[in-house]
Amino acid sequence: MILVTGGAGYIGSHVCALLLAMGREVVIADDLSNSGADAVERLEKITGRRPLFCRGDVRDTGFITGVARTYRPECTLHFAGLKAVGESVRRPLAYYDVNVGGTVTLLRALRRYGGRRFVFSSSATVYAPSEVMPLTEESPLGPYNPYGWTKFMAERALLDLVAAEADWRVALLRYFNPVGAHPSGLLGENPRGTPNNLMPRLCDAAAGVTPRLSVFGLDYPTRDGSGVRDYLHVTDLALGHIRAMELLETSAGAHIYNLGTGVGLSVLEMIAAFQAATGIAAPYEVCPRRPGDLAAYYSSPAKAEREMGWKAEKTPADMCGDAWAFYKKSFI
Ligand code: NAD
Ligand code: UDP
Repeated sequence: MILVTGGAGYIGSHVCALLLAMGREVVIADDLSNSGADAVERLEKITGRRPLFCRGDVRDTGFITGVARTYRPECTLHFAGLKAVGESVRRPLAYYDVNVGGTVTLLRALRRYGGRRFVFSSSATVYAPSEVMPLTEESPLGPYNPYGWTKFMAERALLDLVAAEADWRVALLRYFNPVGAHPSGLLGENPRGTPNNLMPRLCDAAAGVTPRLSVFGLDYPTRDGSGVRDYLHVTDLALGHIRAMELLETSAGAHIYNLGTGVGLSVLEMIAAFQAATGIAAPYEVCPRRPGDLAAYYSSPAKAEREMGWKAEKTPADMCGDAWAFYKKSFI
């Protein structure tokens, strides 16, 4: 049995789709604070198999211990968490509570009843701002917002646990910028309230939901002046979790991997890729820089390829085309 916390959410649901298609038994633990129960039906529609579902909060010791005791998962993929950088600045305690406290509560439950293989959703925000690119797993750490610190601390707790108890096997996966949606159009990103990220905002502008996309800064020291990021398709990212889970079947200890394409794309290049993929020229205007944004960052994914045989395959056209197909199906 594989336990997927946050499995009803954006990235976790894509991983569940792969696990179910592989014939694995899956139990999702999710409080549905940022997702819907219909994820279970959608997964069944895509794969023909239905995951088990337990609604509850990973911070709730009684709930998560019950899940671990009932299902005795041999491996846990931990996606449940809060992820909005801006909100983490305004509500730091909520972020430490869920992302750090929730992880510790879950680990305690697994320590008692579950298997000791654990795949953790970390983030490129654990790295210190730097002009030296690409970022490797050895690049200096030093988050610059509370969200990044919560991921840093959860990583640290996991590394200390592996050092203390040799039977734990842990993969820390540092995601860059996940975008796109399941090719079926049934799973995707469903931001609550006003979205902050580029892709959902690009879709809003393309659909006419907003008059135009704000391009935050055209005065960065990049190819065309707009910000550069390492966007990767969510199905590629999901496959990285399967490779990590498989690696832990044979490798002891802690393993850290960047999951990105290794290619930085600018905001203007993403707008162009979106037009090429969908035929829609999303209107945009140049605005001042967004406070706190870095000019450019992208990964070296070489270690993941070398050690796990994982490499992102999908193109920017796939990312934009699939994001738009999901958006049209869900919101128009
Ligand atoms: P998401 O919000 O779509 O999914 C998270 C899921 O966890 C949701 O279904 C939510 O209902 C659930 N959840 C939240 N708090 C919970 C709690 N206390 N108990 C139980 N369930 C809870 O987010 P996502 O984009 O799929 O992100 C998954 C993980 O990946 C998060 O840990 C996030 O920090 C990390 N991550 C995401 C990105 C990104 O850009 N999407 C980048 C780097 C890392
Ligand atoms: N961005 C933009 N307009 C938007 C949203 C984002 O120009 O409406 C830019 C942002 O400045 C950054 C890139 O798009 O250069 C990616 O931003 P996102 O918030 O998606 O990811 P993050 O900044 O967290 O890496």
